[in-house]
Amino acid sequence: MNQTIVITGAGGVLCSTFAKELAKSGAPIALLDLNIKAAEAVAAEINSAGGKAKAYAANVLDRANLEQVHEEIVKDFGKCRILINGAGGNHPSATTKDEVLTPDSDPNEINFFNLKQEGFSHVFDLNIWGTVLPCQIFAKDMVGAEGCSILNISSMAAYSPLTKTPAYCAAKAGISNFTQWLAVHLAPQGIRVNALAPGFFLTQQNTHLLVGENGEPTPRAGKILRNTPMGRFGKPEELLGALQFLLDDTRAGFVTGCILPVDGGFSAYSGV
Ligand code: NAD
Repeated sequence: MNQTIVITGAGGVLCSTFAKELAKSGAPIALLDLNIKAAEAVAAEINSAGGKAKAYAANVLDRANLEQVHEEIVKDFGKCRILINGAGGNHPSATTKDEVLTPDSDPNEINFFNLKQEGFSHVFDLNIWGTVLPCQIFAKDMVGAEGCSILNISSMAAYSPLTKTPAYCAAKAGISNFTQWLAVHLAPQGIRVNALAPGFFLTQQNTHLLVGENGEPTPRAGKILRNTPMGRFGKPEELLGALQFLLDDTRAGFVTGCILPVDGGFSAYSGV
C-alpha cells in the first residue's frame, strides 16, 4: 500500500493504533481529529519511526472544514485512496442512567422520557453524518482509481442494541446498513466499502460506562465480560489483522459490503 490514507478520529485509541500500523507500509497518512493535539502526537510518533504522517484539525460534522482539509491533503500527499471513518462514539448526554425503567428509577436522572434531543442528535449525527460526510468528500477522489476502499466502524450495538445508549445503537445499526448501501452504490467504480464491528475495547469514549470512579470495572463491564466468551476486553492490536485484510485489494478484492465482527465471540453468544 503506497497510497494516501485518510483516517478520521485518528487521535483516538483504536484509530491511532490503525494509523501506526498502516504507516509501516510507507503510505502517507492524513490524521484527522477534532482533538488536534492528539492527532499531532500520533503524527510525531509515526514520523519519528520513519513513516509519513500529518495531523489536520477536522470536525467530521463540518462539511466546509472537511472540504478545506481535503484540499490541504491533496496538496500535501495527493488524492485519497483509502478512507477510514473512525470518529464516533457515545456521550453521557445520550445515555440513560438505568438500563430499564423501574418504579425505583430516579426521575431527576436521564431516562428515556427526558432524554434531550440535543444529546441524542449529537451522538446520532457524530456516528452517522460523521461517516457519511467524509465519504462524500473523500470518496470522490477514488472514482476512476484502482485499489480504493472505505472502512467504517460499526459496533456490537448494531446487531442488537445495548442498554442505556439508544442514539449510539441506532446510529451504529445505521452504519452497518449504510456500509452495505454504499458498497452497492460504488461497486461499479471498483471502490470497496466494508466495516469492522469491534467488540469491547477500553477507550476514551466508553470509559464513563465501563470504569467506575474508583477505577474498578462497573457492573456493566462485568456483564460485558460475562457475555464475551473469551472473557476479556479486546486489545486494539487485535483489530489489525481484520483491518489489513479488508483494506488489501490483493486479498480482499472481491470483499465489499462486509461487516466483520472482532469481538471475542460476543455476537455469537446468546448469553445461555
Ligand atoms: P476514542 O474516543 O478513543 O476515539 C475517537 C476519536 O474521535 C477521538 O480522538 C475524538 O477526538 C475524535 N472525534 C470525536 N468527535 C469528532 C469530530 N466531530 N470530528 C473529528 N474527530 C472527532 O474512541 P475509539 O473507541 O477509539 O472509537 C473509534 C471508533 O470505534 C468509534 O466509531 C467507536 O464508536 C467505535 N467503536 C469502539 C468500540 C470500543 O470498544 N472502543 C467498540 C465498537 C466501536
